[in-house]
Amino acid sequence: FAKIKETDPEVWEIIRAETERLSGQLEMIASENLPSRAVMEAEGSPLMAKYAEGYPGARYYGGCEFVDRAEDLARERLRMLFGAEYANVQPHSGTQANMAVYFAVLKPGDTILSMNLAHGGHLSHGSPVNFSGQLYRIVHYGVSRETETIDYEEVRRLALEHRPKMIVAGASAYPRVIDFEAFARIAEEVGAYLLVDMAHIAGLVAAGVHPSPVPYADFVTSTTHKTLRGPRGGFILARESYARLLDKTVFPGIQGGPHMNIIAAKAVCFKEALSAGFKSYQQQVVANARRLAEVLAAEGFRLVSGGTDNHLILVDLTPQGLTGAEAEELLSQAGITVNKNAIPFDPRPARVTSGIRIGTPAVTTRGLKEEHMEMIGEWMAAILKNPQKEALRREIREKVSRLCAEFPVYPDLFS
Ligand code: PLP
Repeated sequence: FAKIKETDPEVWEIIRAETERLSGQLEMIASENLPSRAVMEAEGSPLMAKYAEGYPGARYYGGCEFVDRAEDLARERLRMLFGAEYANVQPHSGTQANMAVYFAVLKPGDTILSMNLAHGGHLSHGSPVNFSGQLYRIVHYGVSRETETIDYEEVRRLALEHRPKMIVAGASAYPRVIDFEAFARIAEEVGAYLLVDMAHIAGLVAAGVHPSPVPYADFVTSTTHKTLRGPRGGFILARESYARLLDKTVFPGIQGGPHMNIIAAKAVCFKEALSAGFKSYQQQVVANARRLAEVLAAEGFRLVSGGTDNHLILVDLTPQGLTGAEAEELLSQAGITVNKNAIPFDPRPARVTSGIRIGTPAVTTRGLKEEHMEMIGEWMAAILKNPQKEALRREIREKVSRLCAEFPVYPDLFS
């Protein structure tokens, strides 16, 4: 960062401060991770300047011989990683990957059956403030009140009643395994397409610690920056028969030139995800979440669905008399970053909420294990049970700083 320091000290200072923030606190937002230096190098490379509208071997610009290799590598590695017939690595984001699938096979006004945002679904699955909710007729399924897990009987009942053209499975705040086979059976019964948006769990799926949707879904979309630990971006997987349709829907349908530096960074991320170490990393992500959930439950916290099978935990703070917003702020004062999150059937508005979502991908990347989760769980419990004790938060902040110093993030970036 020597050059930017010289030419733009203001932006350099922002980058330095953000790196220090990442290193000095515990990043426990479930959708975030800490990509490798190799991913960052690819993203910051001269490939960023290249216009390459089209696809490898069929571009609208000259000089694409090297970026073509990057996109071919990314696609091959991605197909291998998930055992898919077709891959498109151009979507700029998870939302654009979903948009491409909708635009490829739906017409405005068609019905989509998807998970309620308030129960853990995503904006791009039909929220009224998103294009998806404005263009399509949306019917939502949710979780059952009793188990707080997806009620597949309810999904089937709604599918039979509303005859959707597409069923969307996948969520942003769902701590349990999703049964893709059950979704596929329902989709087949009503003649709907099945789209699985695996953005949150893609890394777990790649490592085989969550069942894969690829054998069951017509389309699988994802982001690359969550558990998968790559650059920000999206991708689409499908059967070969959809290749032409999806390719042309992404470009020129909904995007212009692909970001070739990001595509190279995706290729690096997929290579890392194919390595043996990635499997043990994902196993540790899940083991860490489970241990943290056990500690919080033992401390008397109510976990939505009673626990976790994946990388995230949803805590209902109603019994503690706290809102999600208050809990987020209290933990943040002690150097633990989480986000407030609605719990199923939450009576509070989205800016307040009754819960927090806690994720283990980023802290696992920096090397934390179960014994650290025990410490963090106890710190969280102490803070949330004693919101009036500011000195306690300061004391824990110091312990968090000491733990963070033992496991630095990007330690040589500014040396
Ligand atoms: N799908 C799911 C399930 C997500 O959780 C997210 C992001 O949080 C997305 C899609 C959207 O990704 P992006 O922010 O890249 O548009």
